[in-house]
Amino acid sequence: LIEARGIRKSYGDLEILKGVDLTVHQRELVFLLGPSGSGKSTLLRCCNLLEQPTGGSLKVEGVDMLSPATDINKMRQRIGMVFQSFNLYPHLTVSGNVTLALRKVLKMSRDEAEARALANLKLVGMDHKADSFPSQLSGGQQQRVGIARSLALEPSVILMDEPTSALDPELVGSVLAVIKELRDRGMTMVIASHEMNFAREAADKVLFLDGGVIVEEGTAEQIFTNAREERTRRFLSQVR
Ligand code: ATP
Ligand code: MG
Repeated sequence: LIEARGIRKSYGDLEILKGVDLTVHQRELVFLLGPSGSGKSTLLRCCNLLEQPTGGSLKVEGVDMLSPATDINKMRQRIGMVFQSFNLYPHLTVSGNVTLALRKVLKMSRDEAEARALANLKLVGMDHKADSFPSQLSGGQQQRVGIARSLALEPSVILMDEPTSALDPELVGSVLAVIKELRDRGMTMVIASHEMNFAREAADKVLFLDGGVIVEEGTAEQIFTNAREERTRRFLSQVR
């Protein structure tokens, strides 16, 4: 579903990604681990061209994302994004936040959009708050709305950048439960996160990034119990 080969990203003289390969198959949950500054967010942002890679090739659903002939806006709809800071519109209700893109981008009628919004809010357990404003919700609830908003566009993959790191510890579980539910329903996801325990129990594949390169890649089991690289082992022992 995603085939990234040799992705590079520089800001001026500073090379942040130094040739990263990322393969994501349908229905996979891929976890990106790595120290702060290793390039996890940059890699996710390159995958939907929020950042333009400075080198490499990128295909999503077989479409060459870096070709000038590709309709990038259309492809971006295929790639959902969930941010650490939720990024909900404060002046819109929960329902309004989810229906906005459905109406503007997919040109749905109000009734159609509201029905689809409600169905997706239900999936994340937030349908009872459809008429509330973001400020009336907990962080965990806001993030679940963020996930519903992304889901409603029916993307082929959702990229999540530290979806739980802005949350109080007692709220993290509700968001992870939703992610797990999506995984069980076959949603393809790439998640940058420091939730090691969750990675261990839920990830199909774990990539350990350091200094802009993939140091090691394997199943969760392999990375957590039997990492080949010293750098990976050191990182895992520090964060646990
Ligand atoms: P964290 O765990 O802290 O979120 P990360 O692995 O997501 O870290 P990135 O946000 O991808 O790391 O950043 C990688 C490096 O790129 C950092 O050194 C950062 O300072 C640099 N960087 C990111 N965005 C820019 C930018 N717009 N201009 C210059 N440097 C940038
Ligand atoms: Mg980051």
